Amino acid sequence: MKKLSVRLKNVLVITIMTLALQTACEAKKKYPKGIKHVVVIGLDGMSSTGFHAATTPCMDSLIGHGAVNYAVRSVLPTVSTPNWNAMLCGAGPEITGANSNSWKANDLDFPSVAISKDRSFPNIFRILRMQKPDAELGAIYHWGGFSAMLEKSILNVSVHCSKQLETAQKSAEYIIEKKPTFLFIQLDGIDGAGHNSGHMSPDYIKYIGETDTHVRIIVDAIHKAGIAGSTMIMVVSDHGGIFGGHGGNSYDELVTPIIFSGKGIKQNYRIRQQIYRYDVAADVAFALGVTAPQLWTGRPTQAAYIGFDEPDNLWEEMEVLPSPRFAAKDNNHKAAFGGEFTGKATVTIIAPEGTKGVIRYTTDGTTPTATSTVYSTPFTVDTTTVVNAKLFNEKGESVKVSATYKITE
Ligand SMILES: [Zn+2]
Repeated sequence: MKKLSVRLKNVLVITIMTLALQTACEAKKKYPKGIKHVVVIGLDGMSSTGFHAATTPCMDSLIGHGAVNYAVRSVLPTVSTPNWNAMLCGAGPEITGANSNSWKANDLDFPSVAISKDRSFPNIFRILRMQKPDAELGAIYHWGGFSAMLEKSILNVSVHCSKQLETAQKSAEYIIEKKPTFLFIQLDGIDGAGHNSGHMSPDYIKYIGETDTHVRIIVDAIHKAGIAGSTMIMVVSDHGGIFGGHGGNSYDELVTPIIFSGKGIKQNYRIRQQIYRYDVAADVAFALGVTAPQLWTGRPTQAAYIGFDEPDNLWEEMEVLPSPRFAAKDNNHKAAFGGEFTGKATVTIIAPEGTKGVIRYTTDGTTPTATSTVYSTPFTVDTTTVVNAKLFNEKGESVKVSATYKITE
């Protein structure tokens, strides 16, 4: 009996010691292991709806070898500079001052919360330069406006290319030659297709597919450079769009996908934690093991990384779903939904790609509820009618979308 209790005591001591050791190890496990390079591939104007509709084998393969989330929220307004800058700065326009496309990096008319010695809000390049002085840091971009967000004196390479393919090729050459610690690439073509032909137009969706081949050039270069085993790739976007532009507050303007892939990242994983535009800088810092400054509001997407879990306090009560849309009149995707018709109009409502649910609609001007008419097939209206539609499923509902069908004799 006495012998047994001694043995029990030993077991207890060993168990307590093991637990203490585990806790110490876990406390130390602050950053992901083995990520030496981060390449961010920024695709301007790619909504989640557009991405779901397009054929993108390279990005699909990155997701297969990585983690994805389709509900990354933009900062306002949903235009390029505020959103790219938020990704670089770990903070939104109310903090950095970058609230429009005409803003410049050391524009102190709108006082940012803090500045570096060069009078810019401290972005990820600045933080990396301070904490990893020898790091190879580059920015290669297709949209000229991207230049205004960069402190060129702390970058090894800052290149503007006038064409998207050239931007991808230049990035590939740079990756092979310099094996950068951090490279931010911006490709502008998808946004251009959205402005020219309308978001969700066949041209827009096709160009997302074409952009996928440019993403492949960059991914192939990472392999050719021999750094695929230590590189984390992120595919990000700044905003989506609707009709012929963006800047407003519709779901398709506000929400884009994000992909994490490669070293340190879980495979084929759907990230549940909420991600904001300004989290990107925090992720780059986290992946490369540098300390993000306290003034940033961005948080790393820890759930994407091997050895890290989803937060305990995830919000799981209800979700805001993507909105359905109405078929474009005469294939004109730049015009608002609905339009003017002679005699009668056919109303076709399209479910948002990538999300299952039931579309309900009204024709009396009210907002659809969970008991409104279910949309199943196109229907005809022969007097001027406002059609409102919403998507519902067991997880939540979308906001209302509206189309006016003006009928003339
Ligand atoms: Zn943009």
